[in-house]
Amino acid sequence: MIKILEKNIADKIAAGEVVDRPVSIVKELVENSLDAGADSVTVEIRDGGKSYIRVTDNGRGIEGEQVGTAFMRHATSKISSEKDLDAIETLGFRGEALASICAVARVEVITKTEGSKTGRRVLAENSEILENRPTGCPDGTTVTVRDLFFNVPARRKFLGSSAAEARRIIDFASRIALSYPDVRFNVINGSGRAFTTPGKGNILTNIINIYGNEISRDLIPVENTENGYILRGYVSSPGTSLPSRSRQVFCVNGRIVTSAVLEKAVDRAYSERLFKGRFPVAFLFISMPAEKLDVNIHPTKKEIRFDDNAEIEDFVSRSINASLQKKGAVPTAELSTAAERLKLSDERFRYEPSEKDSRTEQVDINLLLKSLRQDADEKILSNKIPEKEENISNEPFDFDKLKVSGIVFNTYIIAQDEDAFYLIDQHAAHERILYEQLIKQYKSSEKTRQTLMMPVNLNVSADIAANEEAWIDDVRNLGYDIELFGNSNYLIREIPAFMQINEAERFLTDMFNGLEGKSDISGDTLKRIITESCRSAVKAGDALKDDETDALLAQLRSCDNPFSCPHGRPTFIKMTRHDVEKMFKRV
Ligand code: ADP
Ligand code: MG
Repeated sequence: MIKILEKNIADKIAAGEVVDRPVSIVKELVENSLDAGADSVTVEIRDGGKSYIRVTDNGRGIEGEQVGTAFMRHATSKISSEKDLDAIETLGFRGEALASICAVARVEVITKTEGSKTGRRVLAENSEILENRPTGCPDGTTVTVRDLFFNVPARRKFLGSSAAEARRIIDFASRIALSYPDVRFNVINGSGRAFTTPGKGNILTNIINIYGNEISRDLIPVENTENGYILRGYVSSPGTSLPSRSRQVFCVNGRIVTSAVLEKAVDRAYSERLFKGRFPVAFLFISMPAEKLDVNIHPTKKEIRFDDNAEIEDFVSRSINASLQKKGAVPTAELSTAAERLKLSDERFRYEPSEKDSRTEQVDINLLLKSLRQDADEKILSNKIPEKEENISNEPFDFDKLKVSGIVFNTYIIAQDEDAFYLIDQHAAHERILYEQLIKQYKSSEKTRQTLMMPVNLNVSADIAANEEAWIDDVRNLGYDIELFGNSNYLIREIPAFMQINEAERFLTDMFNGLEGKSDISGDTLKRIITESCRSAVKAGDALKDDETDALLAQLRSCDNPFSCPHGRPTFIKMTRHDVEKMFKRV
């Protein structure tokens, strides 16, 4: 039998589309606050938002007689005609959030506009208004949502642990706070503070406040303007990377978005600088002509579509690349790894027990440690929220200022400039140089070769010889003169000019090993094999003479990516004067 559903069942079903987790409630409420022009927003959660969410703002507020209406489905002040749909400037417009939330939780709204003498308090649950009366309150709006899914037990089962839900909320709040640098955000998780931003518009200050002081140590500013695209932001030096993209935030025309195109642009800038499976930190703020962008492909507007993917990818990737040549891109030497440091600053994502939990008699050692740490944090934050961190250096790296003062362990060159000393891994540096020389030679139409006095004879496996046409042109392109001499034997008469004979031989041998069993050697495979072979071509351990050291640095200087080997290991490690003085407890 076909029946019309009762209203409150229908409401619950409809609510499911807007509210599936505590974070979706936080999202709707915070967006309402921002739409209401608030410049201060406080978010408080308990039990990951499952038992309690409160969002307080200092925005326009709702007129007393309209608060009840705001709870009705399709009740919105943001659009009134079909025409408005084409020019939406607010975050919400469907008029569904409040209605949906009060179908599945207990909701209290306290609100006052600037013009009214008293405010209004409305209580609602099960899609019904239980109370609606005047109350004294400050301008702005506070929405409290308690006991999510109290009336839909089946949905409670799909919620994660309090810690997991809290993490989602804080992650969302972090991103929205970053994209609204002029709004002051205060996020409280249980009995502890998750983060506060001052709302002064400084992106770096916000990154530090939200993600912790540690993350900012290795950040390099990115700034570029081209053809109506403006990019501002920060990326990590290749020395700081993570196993996921959790610290990549993209904001396009004021909206936090996910975008495979932007991810690719970041990856491209770091390719050859990071190991596979490692991801840099990137906070990128892009502003671009609205007509080159489609924001409406996803209902929550998280995903966007660019009209010209290649153009934006190229712009972003080149801009980051330029920043990675700067002084700040040389990784800092340290005892704890970047990943450990970032994990430490991640502690704020931990589940904070609610007041009720913490009122137990037992001393909770974790809580104690946490509050100590928070005190320490507080000190760090109040003492120095630097406008410009000391090592966020935007200067170009100047090889001219580098003075070599020795070599340790037969491998590491010690050099210094005005404010830092460097350890340069001779082996990694050599790999980088060789790799770039080979790639350049490969692409160039004029090869620089040297003729060998005695041709070298190289024996390859039968299948490689049989598959000659798959590789021989590439090898010749690298600058080798190579020819079949019968029966899987190749004769090499010329090698690239920049290689020593034993290097050239090791490189080829390794390359053939890499090629074995591969029939298709398209661009990427070849590039990978060249990268790998550079490693074996270069031999570690021989002490360099002075002039060889100078030559190595001169060659490194002409590289596109001097600061890491093609496999992502650093070639340079830096220790600033300040770091050294700190170790000797002078500062
Ligand atoms: P929408 O945001 O799509 O318009 P909502 O259900 O989220 O729909 O909100 C309904 C209406 O309630 C909004 O259009 C707005 O007029 C009002 N409102 C909700 N939250 C706030 C707030 N924090 N400050 C001022 N007005 C609000
Ligand atoms: Mg809304």
